Amino acid sequence: MSTIQRAYKTELDLNNEQLTACRQHAGAARWAYNWGVARKQEASHATSKSPSAIDRHRELNALKQTDVPWMYAVSKCAPQEARRNLDNAFAHFFRRCQLTQQGKLRGKVSYPTRKSKKRGLGGFRRTGTIIVFPGAIQLPRLGRLRLKERGYLLTGGVRILSATVSEQAGHWSVSVLVEQEHAIPANRGPVVGVDLGVKKLATLSDGAEEPNPRHLKQRLRKIKRCQCAVSRKPKGSHNRRTAAQRLGKLHRTVANQRANTLHHLTSRLAKTKSVVVMEDRNVSGMLKNRHLAQAIGAVGFGAFRRQLTYKAAWYGCRVVVASRWEPSSKTCSGCGWVDGNLTLADRVFHCEAGDLVIDRDLNAAINLSKLAGSSSESLNACGEASSGHGREAVVKRAPMKQEPDTFYAPA
Ligand SMILES: [Zn+2]
Repeated sequence: MSTIQRAYKTELDLNNEQLTACRQHAGAARWAYNWGVARKQEASHATSKSPSAIDRHRELNALKQTDVPWMYAVSKCAPQEARRNLDNAFAHFFRRCQLTQQGKLRGKVSYPTRKSKKRGLGGFRRTGTIIVFPGAIQLPRLGRLRLKERGYLLTGGVRILSATVSEQAGHWSVSVLVEQEHAIPANRGPVVGVDLGVKKLATLSDGAEEPNPRHLKQRLRKIKRCQCAVSRKPKGSHNRRTAAQRLGKLHRTVANQRANTLHHLTSRLAKTKSVVVMEDRNVSGMLKNRHLAQAIGAVGFGAFRRQLTYKAAWYGCRVVVASRWEPSSKTCSGCGWVDGNLTLADRVFHCEAGDLVIDRDLNAAINLSKLAGSSSESLNACGEASSGHGREAVVKRAPMKQEPDTFYAPA
């Protein structure tokens, strides 16, 4: 038994009065966040010390009496939690800056930006007395909000930490963060290697394949047409807003379909396999390839790894991430012969040392699954560094080195 934190998200069924209240709260949170960004920038331009959390809290409260009296209509929790989010955003920003300086992180590091209403109303977080009923959730100040799905949120046996209400394309949902007792089941499943791809979403070393449903590609024509319809309409017009809402709904559908496919796959792997070996992909590098960018962005390699890591911890599974320099595609899974001339276009692997002819992705998946055994040694070498936070710690290695990077999901 161990205590884990877990969030449950479900859609709200709001009446008009509640809708207004939720919009006001989200607006107040957004305003407080943006005010905080501006305040920080002011402080950095004046090269004075950045105001402390308590100072900013007092300052904001003083503003309520003069500049933003409408803030009294919402709970004080909304702007407070927004400020906390902003502090986290800055903490992450500075941590990433530091990592970049140390050469541990590549890619863009951007300063926290203001939240725009045009990009969605956002949301707000509530703490305090939150009560869950089978078909409703009761939040302080907002009262009892009906849920669209009955019985999904746990009504007992958990400690509720917070509830976050958010909007996406006109749909409001609540995410309840709880602390619960969790028994990790005995996982006696097989070891499996997973090769992620574009043509097929995943190929497993036991021969199973997961097709790539390509939700985005299916709707791309429609999305493009909708996008043009928005651009055609004059800025600030009512028609433009309606068209933008239609586009937002479409994007939401695609995002939900993608999330659903990925969640099904990662849950199944974490529940039925004892060890999953996957490859550390150079996603940002691949996204620079124009032809692959859309397809790869749509598959969601990063999301796959993140989901698999946290689910593995729940279901007693172990995730091994093989170094991206591992020649898993180029090596024969039968005899170990390496094909130096293999290109992305070669879909079938022909072994010239033996007589193995095998699907390229299956060959890579089998090679990956073989790395699970050697991981026990490499744990002492680099597992410590990468297992600490359960977050991605990319360890640079020499090309073609045979040990995989291992990280254990936090127990
Ligand atoms: Zn061979």
